[in-house]
Amino acid sequence: MDKPQHQARKRFGQNFLHDPAIIGRIVDIINPQAEDNLIEIGPGQGALTRPLLERTKQLNVIEIDRDLVSLLKEEFAMASDRLHIHEADVLKFDFTTLGLSKLRIVGNLPYNISTPVLFHLLDNAELIQDMLFMLQKEVVDRICASPDSHKYGRLSVMLQYACEVDALMTIKPGAFKPAPKVDSAIVRLIPKKTIDTPVTNFAVFSRLVRDAFSQRRKTIRNALKTYFSNDDFEALDIASDKRPENLSVNNYVTLANHYDSIRDD
Ligand code: SAM
Repeated sequence: MDKPQHQARKRFGQNFLHDPAIIGRIVDIINPQAEDNLIEIGPGQGALTRPLLERTKQLNVIEIDRDLVSLLKEEFAMASDRLHIHEADVLKFDFTTLGLSKLRIVGNLPYNISTPVLFHLLDNAELIQDMLFMLQKEVVDRICASPDSHKYGRLSVMLQYACEVDALMTIKPGAFKPAPKVDSAIVRLIPKKTIDTPVTNFAVFSRLVRDAFSQRRKTIRNALKTYFSNDDFEALDIASDKRPENLSVNNYVTLANHYDSIRDD
Protein backbone atom coordinates (compact mmCIF):
# COMPACT_ATOMS: atom_id res chain seq x y z
CA MET A 1 0.00 0.00 0.00
CA ASP A 2 1.31 3.49 -0.82
CA LYS A 3 1.55 5.52 2.33
CA PRO A 4 1.84 9.28 2.50
CA GLN A 5 5.42 10.32 3.20
CA HIS A 6 6.34 11.35 6.71
CA GLN A 7 9.82 12.05 7.97
CA ALA A 8 10.19 10.24 11.32
CA ARG A 9 10.76 12.69 14.17
CA LYS A 10 13.28 11.66 16.79
CA ARG A 11 11.94 14.05 19.41
CA PHE A 12 8.61 12.21 19.31
CA GLY A 13 10.28 8.79 19.55
CA GLN A 14 9.00 7.79 16.11
CA ASN A 15 9.94 4.24 15.09
CA PHE A 16 7.16 2.98 12.89
CA LEU A 17 6.20 -0.68 12.72
CA HIS A 18 6.32 -1.98 9.18
CA ASP A 19 6.54 -5.79 9.47
CA PRO A 20 3.04 -7.17 8.72
CA ALA A 21 3.73 -10.47 10.52
CA ILE A 22 4.77 -8.69 13.72
CA ILE A 23 1.83 -6.27 13.48
CA GLY A 24 -0.51 -9.26 13.09
CA ARG A 25 0.97 -10.99 16.14
CA ILE A 26 0.66 -7.87 18.28
CA VAL A 27 -2.98 -7.40 17.29
CA ASP A 28 -3.66 -11.07 18.04
CA ILE A 29 -2.16 -10.62 21.50
CA ILE A 30 -4.34 -7.54 22.05
CA ASN A 31 -7.29 -9.62 20.86
CA PRO A 32 -9.65 -6.68 20.38
CA GLN A 33 -13.36 -7.33 20.80
CA ALA A 34 -16.07 -5.31 19.06
CA GLU A 35 -17.32 -3.66 22.26
CA ASP A 36 -13.92 -2.92 23.83
CA ASN A 37 -13.09 0.60 24.94
CA LEU A 38 -9.80 0.56 23.11
CA ILE A 39 -7.36 3.48 23.33
CA GLU A 40 -4.18 3.61 21.26
CA ILE A 41 -1.35 5.86 22.37
CA GLY A 42 0.77 7.18 19.50
CA PRO A 43 -0.99 5.76 16.41
CA GLY A 44 1.70 7.28 14.18
CA GLN A 45 1.08 6.24 10.58
CA GLY A 46 -1.64 3.81 11.63
CA ALA A 47 0.25 0.48 11.55
CA LEU A 48 -1.76 -0.84 14.53
CA THR A 49 -4.71 1.52 14.12
CA ARG A 50 -5.79 -0.06 10.82
CA PRO A 51 -6.11 -3.68 12.05
CA LEU A 52 -7.50 -2.56 15.43
CA LEU A 53 -10.26 -0.61 13.71
CA GLU A 54 -11.19 -3.70 11.72
CA ARG A 55 -11.93 -5.59 14.92
CA THR A 56 -13.48 -3.00 17.19
CA LYS A 57 -16.44 -0.64 16.83
CA GLN A 58 -14.90 2.41 18.48
CA LEU A 59 -11.28 3.41 18.79
CA ASN A 60 -9.78 6.45 20.52
CA VAL A 61 -6.25 7.40 19.58
CA ILE A 62 -3.95 10.02 21.13
CA GLU A 63 -1.23 11.49 18.89
CA ILE A 64 0.96 14.53 19.57
CA ASP A 65 2.35 15.07 16.06
CA ARG A 66 -0.03 17.31 14.16
CA ASP A 67 1.28 16.21 10.75
CA LEU A 68 0.47 12.59 11.61
CA VAL A 69 -2.93 13.66 12.94
CA SER A 70 -3.64 15.25 9.53
CA LEU A 71 -2.57 12.09 7.70
CA LEU A 72 -4.70 9.91 9.98
CA LYS A 73 -7.73 12.17 9.54
CA GLU A 74 -7.31 11.98 5.79
CA GLU A 75 -6.87 8.21 5.63
CA PHE A 76 -9.68 7.43 8.06
CA ALA A 77 -12.13 10.13 6.93
CA MET A 78 -14.71 7.44 6.13
CA ALA A 79 -14.42 6.01 9.64
CA SER A 80 -14.54 9.32 11.53
CA ASP A 81 -17.65 8.21 13.43
CA ARG A 82 -15.66 5.26 14.87
CA LEU A 83 -12.11 6.56 15.09
CA HIS A 84 -11.76 9.43 17.53
CA ILE A 85 -8.45 11.18 17.02
CA HIS A 86 -7.20 13.28 19.93
CA GLU A 87 -4.35 15.60 19.01
CA ALA A 88 -2.73 15.75 22.43
CA ASP A 89 0.26 14.99 24.61
CA VAL A 90 -0.62 11.72 26.35
CA LEU A 91 1.24 12.92 29.46
CA LYS A 92 -1.34 15.71 29.79
CA PHE A 93 -4.29 13.72 28.58
CA ASP A 94 -7.14 13.45 31.08
CA PHE A 95 -8.55 9.96 30.54
CA THR A 96 -11.68 10.77 32.55
CA THR A 97 -12.81 13.13 29.75
CA LEU A 98 -13.50 10.10 27.56
CA GLY A 99 -16.39 9.19 29.87
CA LEU A 100 -15.43 5.52 29.55
CA SER A 101 -14.28 2.83 31.95
CA LYS A 102 -12.72 -0.61 31.47
CA LEU A 103 -10.24 1.03 29.14
CA ARG A 104 -7.95 -1.20 27.13
CA ILE A 105 -4.90 0.94 26.44
CA VAL A 106 -2.39 -0.18 23.84
CA GLY A 107 0.49 1.25 21.88
CA ASN A 108 3.95 1.17 20.53
CA LEU A 109 5.04 3.82 22.98
CA PRO A 110 7.52 6.58 22.24
CA TYR A 111 10.54 5.22 24.10
CA ASN A 112 11.77 8.57 25.31
CA ILE A 113 8.69 9.07 27.51
CA SER A 114 7.67 5.50 28.29
CA THR A 115 8.33 5.71 32.06
CA PRO A 116 6.36 8.95 32.62
CA VAL A 117 3.54 7.54 30.46
CA LEU A 118 3.38 4.43 32.66
CA PHE A 119 3.27 6.54 35.82
CA HIS A 120 0.57 8.78 34.33
CA LEU A 121 -1.50 5.68 33.54
CA LEU A 122 -0.99 4.32 37.07
CA ASP A 123 -2.77 7.46 38.31
CA ASN A 124 -5.76 6.33 36.23
CA ALA A 125 -5.55 2.62 37.08
CA GLU A 126 -9.14 2.41 38.32
CA LEU A 127 -10.39 3.24 34.81
CA ILE A 128 -8.23 0.64 33.10
CA GLN A 129 -8.97 -3.00 32.32
CA ASP A 130 -5.60 -3.78 30.78
CA MET A 131 -2.63 -2.32 28.92
CA LEU A 132 -0.49 -3.81 26.21
CA PHE A 133 2.63 -1.87 25.28
CA MET A 134 5.68 -2.21 23.15
CA LEU A 135 8.67 -0.77 24.97
CA GLN A 136 12.42 -1.09 24.96
CA LYS A 137 13.15 -4.64 26.11
CA GLU A 138 15.35 -3.21 28.85
CA VAL A 139 12.35 -1.34 30.27
CA VAL A 140 10.11 -4.43 30.07
CA ASP A 141 12.82 -6.41 31.89
CA ARG A 142 12.86 -3.77 34.63
CA ILE A 143 9.06 -3.73 34.93
CA CYS A 144 8.94 -7.52 35.38
CA ALA A 145 12.13 -8.01 37.42
CA SER A 146 12.04 -9.89 40.73
CA PRO A 147 13.86 -8.81 43.91
CA ASP A 148 17.56 -9.66 44.12
CA SER A 149 18.12 -8.77 40.49
CA HIS A 150 20.00 -5.69 39.32
CA LYS A 151 17.06 -4.83 37.05
CA TYR A 152 14.66 -4.68 39.99
CA GLY A 153 13.98 -1.06 40.90
CA ARG A 154 11.45 1.72 41.22
CA LEU A 155 9.60 0.74 38.04
CA SER A 156 9.31 -2.90 39.19
CA VAL A 157 8.00 -1.99 42.66
CA MET A 158 5.52 0.68 41.56
CA LEU A 159 4.07 -1.28 38.64
CA GLN A 160 4.02 -4.67 40.38
CA TYR A 161 2.27 -3.08 43.37
CA ALA A 162 -0.61 -1.89 41.17
CA CYS A 163 -0.64 -4.40 38.30
CA GLU A 164 -0.11 -7.98 37.25
CA VAL A 165 2.80 -7.72 34.82
CA ASP A 166 3.75 -10.10 32.06
CA ALA A 167 6.51 -9.90 29.42
CA LEU A 168 5.17 -11.48 26.24
CA MET A 169 7.37 -11.19 23.18
CA THR A 170 10.67 -9.73 22.02
CA ILE A 171 10.82 -7.78 18.77
CA LYS A 172 13.99 -7.13 16.81
CA PRO A 173 14.90 -3.66 15.53
CA GLY A 174 14.24 -4.66 11.89
CA ALA A 175 10.46 -4.61 12.49
CA PHE A 176 10.61 -0.79 12.69
CA LYS A 177 11.47 2.09 10.42
CA PRO A 178 13.74 3.71 11.32
CA ALA A 179 15.20 0.74 13.20
CA PRO A 180 15.92 1.52 16.87
CA LYS A 181 19.32 0.55 18.27
CA VAL A 182 17.93 -1.92 20.80
CA ASP A 183 15.45 -4.79 21.05
CA SER A 184 11.85 -4.09 21.97
CA ALA A 185 9.40 -6.22 23.93
CA ILE A 186 5.72 -6.40 24.65
CA VAL A 187 4.41 -6.14 28.17
CA ARG A 188 0.89 -6.71 29.47
CA LEU A 189 -0.18 -4.83 32.59
CA ILE A 190 -3.46 -5.63 34.32
CA PRO A 191 -4.39 -3.28 37.17
CA LYS A 192 -5.23 -5.35 40.27
CA LYS A 193 -8.87 -5.17 41.29
CA THR A 194 -7.98 -5.70 44.91
CA ILE A 195 -4.61 -5.26 46.55
CA ASP A 196 -3.97 -7.61 49.49
CA THR A 197 -1.99 -5.11 51.52
CA PRO A 198 -2.79 -1.65 50.21
CA VAL A 199 -0.72 1.42 50.91
CA THR A 200 -2.34 3.95 53.22
CA ASN A 201 -0.81 6.90 51.38
CA PHE A 202 0.23 6.45 47.77
CA ALA A 203 2.26 9.67 47.67
CA VAL A 204 4.35 8.52 50.65
CA PHE A 205 4.86 5.08 49.07
CA SER A 206 5.89 6.63 45.78
CA ARG A 207 8.36 9.02 47.41
CA LEU A 208 9.87 6.38 49.68
CA VAL A 209 10.40 3.94 46.79
CA ARG A 210 11.96 6.67 44.68
CA ASP A 211 14.31 7.68 47.50
CA ALA A 212 15.28 4.08 48.26
CA PHE A 213 16.34 3.38 44.68
CA SER A 214 18.03 6.71 44.14
CA GLN A 215 20.83 5.26 46.30
CA ARG A 216 20.65 1.62 45.34
CA ARG A 217 24.21 0.75 46.32
CA LYS A 218 23.63 1.78 49.92
CA THR A 219 22.00 -0.38 52.55
CA ILE A 220 18.29 0.28 52.97
CA ARG A 221 19.07 1.70 56.44
CA ASN A 222 21.31 4.38 54.90
CA ALA A 223 19.17 4.99 51.84
CA LEU A 224 16.14 5.67 54.05
CA LYS A 225 17.89 7.19 57.04
CA THR A 226 15.72 10.32 56.92
CA TYR A 227 12.67 8.08 57.31
CA PHE A 228 13.55 5.44 59.88
CA SER A 229 15.67 4.53 62.89
CA ASN A 230 17.25 1.10 63.34
CA ASP A 231 14.45 0.33 65.81
CA ASP A 232 11.87 0.88 63.09
CA PHE A 233 13.51 -1.74 60.86
CA GLU A 234 13.70 -4.17 63.77
CA ALA A 235 10.07 -3.63 64.72
CA LEU A 236 9.04 -4.29 61.11
CA ASP A 237 11.32 -7.34 60.87
CA ILE A 238 13.10 -6.00 57.79
CA ALA A 239 16.88 -6.52 57.80
CA SER A 240 18.29 -3.01 57.56
CA ASP A 241 21.59 -4.17 56.04
CA LYS A 242 19.89 -5.32 52.84
CA ARG A 243 20.17 -3.26 49.69
CA PRO A 244 17.10 -1.64 48.14
CA GLU A 245 16.98 -4.31 45.41
CA ASN A 246 16.68 -7.09 48.03
CA LEU A 247 13.35 -5.88 49.44
CA SER A 248 10.04 -7.24 48.18
CA VAL A 249 7.15 -5.05 47.01
CA ASN A 250 5.40 -5.92 50.28
CA ASN A 251 8.43 -4.79 52.28
CA TYR A 252 8.10 -1.39 50.63
CA VAL A 253 4.38 -1.28 51.41
CA THR A 254 5.17 -2.13 55.05
CA LEU A 255 7.81 0.58 55.25
CA ALA A 256 5.58 3.20 53.60
CA ASN A 257 2.62 2.40 55.83
CA HIS A 258 4.78 2.49 58.92
CA TYR A 259 6.23 5.85 57.92
CA ASP A 260 2.74 7.15 57.16
CA SER A 261 1.64 6.15 60.67
CA ILE A 262 4.59 7.72 62.52
CA ARG A 263 5.29 10.89 60.51
CA ASP A 264 3.97 14.08 61.98
CA ASP A 265 3.76 16.33 58.91
N1 SAM B 1 1.95 3.18 16.52
C1 SAM B 1 2.86 3.57 15.46
C2 SAM B 1 3.58 2.35 14.97
O1 SAM B 1 3.62 1.35 15.71
O2 SAM B 1 4.13 2.38 13.87
C3 SAM B 1 3.84 4.64 15.92
C4 SAM B 1 4.71 4.28 17.11
S1 SAM B 1 6.00 5.44 17.45
C5 SAM B 1 7.14 4.44 18.37
C6 SAM B 1 5.36 6.46 18.76
C7 SAM B 1 4.21 7.38 18.39
O3 SAM B 1 3.84 8.16 19.54
C8 SAM B 1 4.52 8.39 17.30
O4 SAM B 1 3.47 8.46 16.38
C9 SAM B 1 4.69 9.71 18.05
O5 SAM B 1 4.42 10.86 17.28
C10 SAM B 1 3.71 9.53 19.17
N2 SAM B 1 4.02 10.34 20.36
C11 SAM B 1 5.23 10.73 20.82
N3 SAM B 1 5.14 11.43 21.95
C12 SAM B 1 3.81 11.50 22.23
C13 SAM B 1 3.05 12.09 23.28
N4 SAM B 1 3.65 12.78 24.27
N5 SAM B 1 1.70 12.00 23.26
C14 SAM B 1 1.08 11.31 22.25
N6 SAM B 1 1.75 10.71 21.23
C15 SAM B 1 3.09 10.80 21.23
